[in-house]
Amino acid sequence: MRSSQVSNGRRFIAWITLFTFLVMPLSLVAQTQIKYHSNRYSPQDDVKVGLQAAQEAEQQFPLLRDETVGGYVERVGQRLASAIPSEFQHPEFRYYFKVVNASDINAFALPGGPMYVNRGMIEAASNEGEMAGVMCHELSHVALRHGTAQATKAQKYSILSGIAGIAGTILGGQGVGQLAQLPFGVYFLKFSREYETEADVLGARICANAGYDPRDLANMFKTIERQGGGGGGFLSDHPSPKDRYARINQEAQYLKVNNPIRDTRDFARVQERLRGYPRAQTMAEIARSGQRNPVGDNTGNYPSNVPTGRVDYPSTRYQSYGILNGNVTVSVPNNWRQLGESNSVWFAPEGAYGQYNGQAVFTHGVNFGIAQTSQRNLQSATDELVNGLAQGNPNLRASRGYQRTTLSGRSALWTSLSNRNEATGRTENIRLITTQLSNGQLFYMIAVAPSNEQGFEGAFQNVASSVRINY
Ligand SMILES: [Zn+2]
Repeated sequence: MRSSQVSNGRRFIAWITLFTFLVMPLSLVAQTQIKYHSNRYSPQDDVKVGLQAAQEAEQQFPLLRDETVGGYVERVGQRLASAIPSEFQHPEFRYYFKVVNASDINAFALPGGPMYVNRGMIEAASNEGEMAGVMCHELSHVALRHGTAQATKAQKYSILSGIAGIAGTILGGQGVGQLAQLPFGVYFLKFSREYETEADVLGARICANAGYDPRDLANMFKTIERQGGGGGGFLSDHPSPKDRYARINQEAQYLKVNNPIRDTRDFARVQERLRGYPRAQTMAEIARSGQRNPVGDNTGNYPSNVPTGRVDYPSTRYQSYGILNGNVTVSVPNNWRQLGESNSVWFAPEGAYGQYNGQAVFTHGVNFGIAQTSQRNLQSATDELVNGLAQGNPNLRASRGYQRTTLSGRSALWTSLSNRNEATGRTENIRLITTQLSNGQLFYMIAVAPSNEQGFEGAFQNVASSVRINY
């Protein structure tokens, strides 16, 4: 059984450490000591900031909603979290693990415990030991409270003020809520060389405590190299992968694990399952598309079925909703349901919504949202939005130019686009109406239905004329 192996391993480590002191010449490097850095924040602050950042991350990146994969990663993660040495455990922290449907070989963890493991990392790893190695490294940044330690350091030089700035730092140096506008790479907190080394050293220890061979963490660097993929936030360029490889293996001498967990049947099954999915986008592609992912409906349960596209005609009775934080009211057929989150709301009939490859997909319905834009004029702002939509929907084509119209008494543009629906493979028509708000943001309405179905035209027109914008 694993638990007894671990404790034997610990005894062995204690013994070998003693042996080292007795026999080895003093000049040899001993096991590295790790300490916390000075930190003006409380562990509760880590939790608070991490949850804020996690919310942002989940709006930006599509989670892979697959229970087999998710359950497995959560099990491995919890085993690692409970192997964190007691001096680095925090009762306030809650570790949880989610899989992002992105192809980069990467993972990132946020203060207080949320961790996001990319599908690409799981697919690239040669075995469970390598996957766990990356997770051990990321867990160590959390346990050592590197995020808030870094913010503490930054504040000494008054770069930041107040806790509100921290989530921003963690997510890339700007306020939370502006992620969609950020160029990609900055999403990950860039730690110093010192912090990275500490995360490798503690990561090796956590892995060993959990029954993994810490050298598998080092082996992951070779795997990433072999696959020619950048490890992004994980494979930071400082220290160099070569130095990190050597350092971890050096540390591993003190961490002998008998019969380590390496190839597991669960890991093989999960990899096979992931390879059955179509190619995932890179995180940069996802970020560029700027599409917010509707992650939950009002009850927080986003349906996981693939939409069939078989739906009832729109009801002739309408129901009003206040959306986008109450700043907009709309009326929609009363057999449509509201889905989505604060920045992007859908109304769609049963059968028209669901998930495909971990992404929310709609076949019929309307979507209202607000897009950040740096463009001053409506047409270039709309161009920017259309480009963003095209990044997320590779089959999207513009089918005509812009026409002038009005929306809620404001000057607006409308255009028609065509797309092939990912889930059903059917060609669909997309009507897009945009208008600029007084704060410069772009308000949009998207109406979608299969191109050979005319029954939704009237409803879309009614919905568009019901829109009241109160900005
Ligand atoms: Zn790191």
